[in-house]
Amino acid sequence: REISTKESNVAKIKVVVRKRPLNKKEISRKEDDIVTVHNNAFLTVHEPKLKVDLTAYVEKHEFCFDAVLDEHVTNDEVYRETVEPIIPTIFQRTKATCFAYGQTGSGKTYTMKPLPLRAVEDIVQLLHQPCYRNQNFKLWLSYFEIYGGKLFDLLCDRRKLCMREDGKQQVCIVGLQEFEVLDVQIVKDFIEKGNAARSTGSTGANEESSRSHAILQLAIKKHKEVVDTRRHKDGNESKGGKVIGKISFIDLAGSERGADTTDNDRLTRIEGAEINKSLLALKECIRALDNDQIHIPFRGSKLTEVLRDSFVGNSKTVMISCISPNAGSCEHTLNTLRYADRVK
Ligand code: ADP
Ligand code: MG
Repeated sequence: REISTKESNVAKIKVVVRKRPLNKKEISRKEDDIVTVHNNAFLTVHEPKLKVDLTAYVEKHEFCFDAVLDEHVTNDEVYRETVEPIIPTIFQRTKATCFAYGQTGSGKTYTMKPLPLRAVEDIVQLLHQPCYRNQNFKLWLSYFEIYGGKLFDLLCDRRKLCMREDGKQQVCIVGLQEFEVLDVQIVKDFIEKGNAARSTGSTGANEESSRSHAILQLAIKKHKEVVDTRRHKDGNESKGGKVIGKISFIDLAGSERGADTTDNDRLTRIEGAEINKSLLALKECIRALDNDQIHIPFRGSKLTEVLRDSFVGNSKTVMISCISPNAGSCEHTLNTLRYADRVK
């Protein structure tokens, strides 16, 4: 398959919904599938309700999005629908972001994990095209996490990082390690390593990782003739090189975690408040982008501050909203769809 170097007319913001299949547990509990995908842009949620006299009825909620992907759609098709069209644009000074939003267990990680791999395949192919081959472009990868409003390097023993602005709307994350990507296999290893390093407290892996945002960035940089990569004493930090474009893949914290603001546990409450703040700020930033507003409210949270340079200038945003189809998730599913609806 050939990927074109020409950027087609890609929308600035695209909102996609992905429904996962019912899982074994939900099937064994005989839970209803309450989400019907009618076509590639339209879905209905059938909310089970009770009247005051306890008679059961169903309230229908209809939603339209740029794309709706049902439970039969493969990760490959997700890639083609979401990220593939954007790849040529990052060679043309675009900063792109791809978010996975949704409640814990709705398929965010399942959806996000293969995307950077496929993206690297296409980027590497483009780097070898005649128009880019002799430009001294290099591809760099970094992977970090925002947990409780703090940044941690997932590829460097969870080293704590801090952020600096350079006054030119460029974000610098001090100490973040970047690794040069030469082939796809190495990316696979980085993703595995980074995912293993994601927050895992005493309560178990999914539980804790659902409270953090994981951000994997691929940046194309133009280097001078002489390779200006200075080896840092503890890694392969890329100094120099001008960023041509980049794409960030963001596996967001579980959207239901933003509601943990009244929990008995103090830490859970603080984290919940931070998640709530960041998801609200993200929504506001994307809306501001969509309306071509001059003022983008990225100061609202760590997440949006970190992504600040992706909200100005040439930018492309894809929001993949993941939903669970079971009746028990109805409230969360409706919340996710309403959030996605507000973004678009
Ligand atoms: P999240 O990251 O949103 O908490 P996960 O990606 O971990 O959710 O998905 C929860 C479970 O559902 C995992 O076991 C995953 O393999 C499965 N799953 C998610 N989406 C799909 C899908 N589209 N098809 C098949 N299985 C899926
Ligand atoms: Mg996950």
